[in-house]
Amino acid sequence: MPIVEVRCGVLHAPLRAPFVTALRSTTVVESLLVEILDESGTHGIGEAPVVEKVTGESLHALRVCVEGPLRSVVVGREPDDLVPLLHDVARQAPSNPAARAAVDVALHDLAARRQGVSLPRFLGGTLLKVPTDVTVSADTADRLVAAARDRVDDGFDVVKLKVGTDPVTDVERVLAVRAAVGEAVTVRLDANQGWTPQEAVRVLGLLEDADAGVELVEQPVAAADIDGLAWVRRRAQTPVMADESVFGLRELVTVISKGAADSVNVKLAKAGGLLPAVALLELARAHGLGAMVGSMMEGPVGVGAAASLAAVHGTTVVPDLDAAWWLDGSPLQGGLRYEGAMVHLPDTPGLGIERR
Ligand SMILES: [Mg+2]
Repeated sequence: MPIVEVRCGVLHAPLRAPFVTALRSTTVVESLLVEILDESGTHGIGEAPVVEKVTGESLHALRVCVEGPLRSVVVGREPDDLVPLLHDVARQAPSNPAARAAVDVALHDLAARRQGVSLPRFLGGTLLKVPTDVTVSADTADRLVAAARDRVDDGFDVVKLKVGTDPVTDVERVLAVRAAVGEAVTVRLDANQGWTPQEAVRVLGLLEDADAGVELVEQPVAAADIDGLAWVRRRAQTPVMADESVFGLRELVTVISKGAADSVNVKLAKAGGLLPAVALLELARAHGLGAMVGSMMEGPVGVGAAASLAAVHGTTVVPDLDAAWWLDGSPLQGGLRYEGAMVHLPDTPGLGIERR
């Protein structure tokens, strides 16, 4: 039953609240949905988030890549021959990780549906739930405190604060949230490249002196500055997680060889899908590096695939899978659902997601 068609559509969904980081601000989720059909009409679905500042791919670029080079490599192929097919997909679009990720996830979903098993089972596990943190956008101290309290009331117990917008007020904002949520809540930071190495060490040092109890800090410095990341890690006690610095194996090897991070944030849209993401998790594990699975601002397809990966392969810290929680309605039905801080995956074929 070969693949006969690759179709693209756009997921456009409003957010419950604006999402603000040191890199960007947004009020909607926009992503490219990719549907791959075999001759029997069975379909698989994948999603490519539009995060041009991270992956360099606009919505237009994603669509051109999927409908052009990736479609040509996939149509006519046997979906059950999954691994060789995915390697060809990777070779065909080396500079388009999010486009590759959408096709990789759609092919996994299709292959799992053809076998009648859930994506986690297809990936080699049976666990159908994973915990998630919740992200609180960069904002003023008062609004951060209110938002963090709301999320704790919603049942979340790991709060990720977006910092890096201003090193002077970052410290007081983190301390305000820590005081408001209490010791039972885990607080982690994501600076999204917003600090210089010197600023990072100063901010983290002040937080350490104040016993802020920060679990880890994601990507304190510019993505390309691996030496800066290593410099921060040697001087700060707070564990450092590489995010934008690591897309694939090549960057992870550099981070490991320079001792630049304590852990890595593995995301499908950076890695290029589930198959390369598994390789990243295995490499991290082999070197004693911690690993998290995260997502971009994306919908239930991308987050469902990332949650399946986390459920099967495990992470050393609570994953970052709240993105789909923020959607205020969606044109898709089925798939993952949130219950407090837990992501539940359906035990239905593939991702269990259909268009309405
Ligand atoms: Mg991050």
